[in-house]
Amino acid sequence: MKKILILHTGGTIAMIEDKETGAVEQNQQNPLLLHTNALASIADVKVEELFQLPSPHITEKEMLLLKEKIETSVREDKIEGVVITHGTDTLEETAYFLDITIQSDIPIVVTGAMRSSNEVGADGPYNLISAVRVAASDSAIGKGVLVVLNDEIHTAKNVTKTHTSNIATFQSPQYGPLGIVSKRDITFHHMPTIRETYEIKKITKKVILLKAYAGMEGSIIQAIRTLHPDGLVIEALGQGNLPPRMVPDLKELIDSGVPVVLVSRCFNGYVQDVYNYDGGGRKLKELGVIFSNGLNGQKARLKLLVTLEMTNNHDELQEMFFK
Ligand code: ASP
Repeated sequence: MKKILILHTGGTIAMIEDKETGAVEQNQQNPLLLHTNALASIADVKVEELFQLPSPHITEKEMLLLKEKIETSVREDKIEGVVITHGTDTLEETAYFLDITIQSDIPIVVTGAMRSSNEVGADGPYNLISAVRVAASDSAIGKGVLVVLNDEIHTAKNVTKTHTSNIATFQSPQYGPLGIVSKRDITFHHMPTIRETYEIKKITKKVILLKAYAGMEGSIIQAIRTLHPDGLVIEALGQGNLPPRMVPDLKELIDSGVPVVLVSRCFNGYVQDVYNYDGGGRKLKELGVIFSNGLNGQKARLKLLVTLEMTNNHDELQEMFFK
């Protein structure tokens, strides 16, 4: 039997619903601990409650602690797979952070739930069992950090939360899942083409994420400058264009040495230097804007946060964001 480490971090999967008020909240005892015995037939599980946090309370600090915890367990306890339970709101961010910062090839699977533990149709216990099955599967080795919910296996890189309440909320727009969990098997039908990891020991930078909209003005960029960011990610329009009134202030920000990464607010496709009008992608590229490769805004922000620990050179960052 494989040695699997389960790390609980909180979220709805570990919460209960107050039947009188309907409020969903933390319980003194994590209800997931009741399911530990059911996992014993799948793997040799070791369970730790690392945090008990709703996922909007998770910061880069907790992500880094998780990374360190996993690395130590692989090194010292010879753990062969990891399952992390996490609130779904920021689950994709923690999963992606671990994906680009952990070098190990062992399966690391992140899961959560849309319904709290005592609601009818609670999806948490089932998702936890599925996640442990995937983490214990040889076919999950070397595929990067995976997100498993609702019988689907997604890459941390492509998955995103798409629905506020539906249990089928996690989707990988444009790519689809990597595989499925069925009653008898764990089946992968796609392979990730590249694995990208960066060695970091700390997070010291400040990176801001901004969403563009019609008529947006440069004053927002001026306001952001007063916060002294080390980097800025902008969810641009369409194929990578911005309202022209933002451009002069954006140029000043870039000229002052702050890297600006562009992603699209469209959830399919890539940003490219296509349009040559004022604010168009071609002009933005000439200004020194870095184009990303289909990551969504929240993940590009984490990637910039991580890569800035190594360099803030424009060309080196552009190379990393092409991957
Ligand atoms: N708000 C909750 C959280 O992210 C939602 C969930 O876990 O599904 O912690």
